[in-house]
Amino acid sequence: MSSLAELRPDALAALHGELTREYEALKDRKLSLDMTRGKPAPEQLDLAEGMLALPGNRDHLSEAGEDTRNYGGLQGLAEVRNLFAPVLGAPAAQVIVGNNSSLALMHDVHVYALLRGVPGGTKPWSKEEEIAILCPVPGYDRHFALSESFGIKLIPVPLTGEGPDMDEVERLAADPKVKAIWCVPQYSNPSGETYSDAVVERLARMKTGAPDFRILWDNAYALHHLGETRPHLANILEACAAAGNPDRPVVFASTSKVTIAGAGLAFIAASPANVRWYLDNASKRTIGPDKLNQLRHVRFLRDLDGIHAHMEKHRALIAPKFAAVEEAFERRLASHSFARWTKPAGGYFIILDVMAGTGSRVVALAKAAGLALTPAGSTHPYGKDPEDRTLRIAPTYPSLAEVKLAADAVALCTLLAACEKRMA
Ligand code: PLP
Repeated sequence: MSSLAELRPDALAALHGELTREYEALKDRKLSLDMTRGKPAPEQLDLAEGMLALPGNRDHLSEAGEDTRNYGGLQGLAEVRNLFAPVLGAPAAQVIVGNNSSLALMHDVHVYALLRGVPGGTKPWSKEEEIAILCPVPGYDRHFALSESFGIKLIPVPLTGEGPDMDEVERLAADPKVKAIWCVPQYSNPSGETYSDAVVERLARMKTGAPDFRILWDNAYALHHLGETRPHLANILEACAAAGNPDRPVVFASTSKVTIAGAGLAFIAASPANVRWYLDNASKRTIGPDKLNQLRHVRFLRDLDGIHAHMEKHRALIAPKFAAVEEAFERRLASHSFARWTKPAGGYFIILDVMAGTGSRVVALAKAAGLALTPAGSTHPYGKDPEDRTLRIAPTYPSLAEVKLAADAVALCTLLAACEKRMA
């Protein structure tokens, strides 16, 4: 089959007719499939079913003898901080364990920064006339929505395949109004890329206009490999400390996609000053986190090997789903030479770049055929993809059979929308 750009009008019309018939047949199947969010499938949650019976049997004392049923322990149990310290790349003393949802911790860091200011700053961020945050694109819609909801201006910066365009980041960060940057440094949501050592180094060293600039380092996919290759991600806390900017990064992570999405543990790792700052603020908000859940996690995962072994079970369940999407895109789209898609080595997403100007149409076609996709534009600040072409595909939640069907349907809609565009 020749590329779409080379098809003569009659061949294009014939292809359009053929695809329209296929699309009508797809609609007749009355599918109801959802590829909108990167949620673990029920089988993945089942992997941690055994954890729900723990600690149990009157096992509620921490190693230090704390009664985990009681109040207190704001920073988290030492054994949990020790267990996850290597994952976060920080000494246990610089790790905080929160309740489920790292997004909630990111929210709280926003609120504390806005209302009280951060170490190294001169006033609360909300007292500035205008503040902005750099948003590598394509990025995570909930990050952007969180900052936007507090009136922080979102400034897009393109990703390059090994992290954000650092020339652009350095240029923009020189403005004192720019207070922070969002980063998903490994298997980025949704591009799947991992930041190179050079990018990490430049983020750590760059001159910022704001003395209290923060890197919000959301390492949500630190453990979530799909293949055999394990990318190297430089340690942002060490890089920033070595560059004389120890308070610049705040690292986040969680076990939402390790154990149980709605009942995992979330973490912060940061400099001693940032840890003190966070805990001081958090102490006004809570008397302490759910330490029974912390104990449950240590009893279940045991050690670093236990965490990696558990992640292998996830990989066995989801890698075939990613492969199925790639197979469908390759079969349906490759020869037409207009669409591009990622082949991530980890994380939860695939990016499909459709023909420019057709992203919303693809999503609408898919919806009418019973397949829910993330709205076009959601990978960009304010939900606006200037090229209307980047779609985020989330293959983990549906069953493998459903993923095969859905990926084929997405590819069909992509092709149909491209034909329509060329014929217009
Ligand atoms: N950060 C990223 C990059 C994510 O993709 C997600 C969920 O998809 C989250 C955070 C949410 O994390 P949590 O469940 O810990 O709130």
